Amino acid sequence: KYQSLAYERVLEIHKQHLSPILTAYFPKPLLLHQGHKEWLFDYEGNRYLDFFSGIVTVSVGHCHPKVNAAAQKQLGRLWHTSTLFFHPPIHEFAEKLSALLPEPLKVIFLVNSGSEANDLAMLMARAHSKSTDIISFRGGYHGGSSSTLGLTNVGSFKTELSSGLGCQSTMCPDVFRGPWGGSHCRDSPVQTIRKCSCAPDCCQAKDQYIEQFKDTLNSSVAKSIAGFFAEPIQGVNGVVQYPKGFLKEAFELVRERGGLCIADEVQTGFGRLGSHFWGFQTHGILPDIVTMAKGIGNGFPMAAVVTTPEIANSLAKSVLHFNTFGGNPMACAIGSAVLEVIKEENLQENSQEVGTYMLQKFAELRDEFEIVGDVRGKGLMIGIEMVKDKMSRQPLPQEEVNEIHDNCKRMGLLIGKGGIFAQTFRIAPSMCITEPDVKFAVEVFRSALTQHRDRRAK
Ligand code: PMP
Repeated sequence: KYQSLAYERVLEIHKQHLSPILTAYFPKPLLLHQGHKEWLFDYEGNRYLDFFSGIVTVSVGHCHPKVNAAAQKQLGRLWHTSTLFFHPPIHEFAEKLSALLPEPLKVIFLVNSGSEANDLAMLMARAHSKSTDIISFRGGYHGGSSSTLGLTNVGSFKTELSSGLGCQSTMCPDVFRGPWGGSHCRDSPVQTIRKCSCAPDCCQAKDQYIEQFKDTLNSSVAKSIAGFFAEPIQGVNGVVQYPKGFLKEAFELVRERGGLCIADEVQTGFGRLGSHFWGFQTHGILPDIVTMAKGIGNGFPMAAVVTTPEIANSLAKSVLHFNTFGGNPMACAIGSAVLEVIKEENLQENSQEVGTYMLQKFAELRDEFEIVGDVRGKGLMIGIEMVKDKMSRQPLPQEEVNEIHDNCKRMGLLIGKGGIFAQTFRIAPSMCITEPDVKFAVEVFRSALTQHRDRRAK
């Protein structure tokens, strides 16, 4: 209806000229025309509630008027300078962003994507520690560049070609799927149905995972390590949470060996988790380096690495780090507007309130349907893990997951998928969503689950 190109022609061009790796996500690819707040509209005028926000990226809503106005103002003034010249938007943004981070995390490096941010964080950790080895969790996603592919440990993204030299993986202390279960947070309104029999407050599963972590540190790594990367909650792996207290102990063990601790806040940052602005704060830890992207620009390509003056100086002494587009005036003007909107519209508080409500509503479906194995997450980062049955916890077969996913889309709800077996639905909408949006989403999901159950019963 709105497009200059017919749908069929778009599919043809896509097939001929765009990367064959780009996935369409749905059997009938979605051709979008417009976005408004938490809503998307396709070329036929169909409306969708966007509960994945461009992979956890559109933080304050599609085409937010304040962000648009800031972008338009800067567009007519100055697009680009490279870092050779000063321009006020970068200083305004640096001041605003640094105010949101605790001491001594006050020095900001601006780049253009999450992969670039983690790439730079690796370089920093190595320059500062004078060591090479870096550890990250299995199931963690930290980027797709050839160096960050070493940090990323999700099978489908790995290649048999050499990449990410000096990187080691360690067991992810996955509360639901890990061998010892565990308890992620006794304060959460929704608890994972646990495998372990110990009480949540004294959960020994954490200690068993810590023993595993020590094993990685002691046996497979050289004398000292450069750093340890962790997402406060794993995103791509299907909203995986760790046992309470794990990261705190892991950080201590890494520091004992001279390594730096890096929190990858690409998905968890900017108030999404509700109770705190940064995911690391929910673990009561203070990283040496924080990387951020996605929600920082509400969809505009920008990213940042924040660290201490000491570590920033170690990098400066070892390399002349340069980035043509990092911190360009457009990105900084947009970044500042995004931070203002999060504050003015109380979006962190909204994540907490509406997110907690949503978690509880989806947990009711877990109790209602045998194939909903786990409902977890925090604020507006929620995972719904699909299983064959609750007892075996075997992942629900792909065709069945896809059927539910596509049915949600047909009923006007877009959600994400993740996990090693793509068995977990991921929900991470713009932080401006409302309770009625949640009611709609839960009803659509319930209906897709009911249709699945009825079809299998036939
Ligand atoms: N870290 C995390 C936690 C991510 O989820 C992603 C992207 N999915 C990245 C890093 C890489 O970001 P980008 O795609 O912008 O390079």
